[in-house]
Amino acid sequence: MARVYNFSPGPAMLPVEVMEQARDEMLDWRGTGMSVMEMSHRGKQFMSIAEQAEADFRELLAISDDYKVLFLQGGAASQFAMAPMNLLRGKKEADYLCTGHWSKKAIDEGRKFCKVNVVASTEKTGFKTIPPQRDWNLNPQAAYFHYTPNETIAGVEFHWIPKMGEIPLVVDMSSTLLSRPVDVSCFGAIYAGAQKNIGCAGLTIVIVRRDLMGQTLEGTPTMFNYQVQADNDSMYNTPPTYAWYISGLVFSWLKKKGGLAAMAQINRTKADTLYNFIDSSSFYHNPVEPASRSWMNIPFTLSDPSLDERFLEQAKKSSLTNLKGHRSVGGMRASIYNAMPQKGIDTLVEFMKEFERTQA
Ligand SMILES: *Cc1c(COP(=O)(O)O)cnc(C)c1O
Repeated sequence: MARVYNFSPGPAMLPVEVMEQARDEMLDWRGTGMSVMEMSHRGKQFMSIAEQAEADFRELLAISDDYKVLFLQGGAASQFAMAPMNLLRGKKEADYLCTGHWSKKAIDEGRKFCKVNVVASTEKTGFKTIPPQRDWNLNPQAAYFHYTPNETIAGVEFHWIPKMGEIPLVVDMSSTLLSRPVDVSCFGAIYAGAQKNIGCAGLTIVIVRRDLMGQTLEGTPTMFNYQVQADNDSMYNTPPTYAWYISGLVFSWLKKKGGLAAMAQINRTKADTLYNFIDSSSFYHNPVEPASRSWMNIPFTLSDPSLDERFLEQAKKSSLTNLKGHRSVGGMRASIYNAMPQKGIDTLVEFMKEFERTQA
């Protein structure tokens, strides 16, 4: 079976080199006679894997000692609750920006813990833009400001960082973290599920400013307490050891590729290739305002939606899979995280041209 170009939004493609290394080390990790899956999380072998992964992650993002990095479970969706539980710090209100499906989920969950002020929402106009900060209705009493830098479903992305003064920014970077450099010092907390750009499902990374921890909402379960997780180096209980190991392999792959500045160039070229083609065609259409277009998730529609099924079937025959768009947007979506090579984009564009030529 040949490998396909998998455009899934997540779990998504992983670098082949990473999976080959995992395969080679599967039964016997470096002469231990054990798989990483079989190791005690407190043994020195796994501890070395965990420490190296964290060191590489910190190096890639230039994370200072002011921040703790947590390797947790539960997915980004758990952070929709853990963020307010840990970051309200005795306050009763928080600001949220609504730019898509995932912002909405975070808002709904946030409402269980505090008074949520939605500073702006693009829902009525179909999540096609990032509204400018001057139009936000901010609350100076907010404990934090939450937003979603990349909306995986609508394909809308921030290409700038809001300025909130003393109010910490709390962000869901599930579908964009590690796709380019980011100035971590601008944020109070960053969280991301691993299955898009970081590794395999089962791991959730939280980068949190140390001074924001320790004022957890009363009644917060121990496992959901950032301070407890930080004090135990994410090993209060058994962490997702294998997913942690795989993410470590991805981090070392990223370093070999030249780090995040190099990834940014590659990702930008990939996205430009696809957007330029879509914009040059009258058969395909991307609905997002150009300044807010995602580098990672590119939705597009066909001018004749009755051809959608045929498009997907034929794409699959050309080894281009999982292009079906989210049901809320319709059409197609190409998710093109770090592990999707330029060749995959070129193959998709060639296919799209040929489909248009033969069907339109
Ligand atoms: C995929 C995704 C989620 C959900 O992640 P889980 O790990 O499944 O909880 C949340 N937010 C964004 C932006 C996502 O892309």
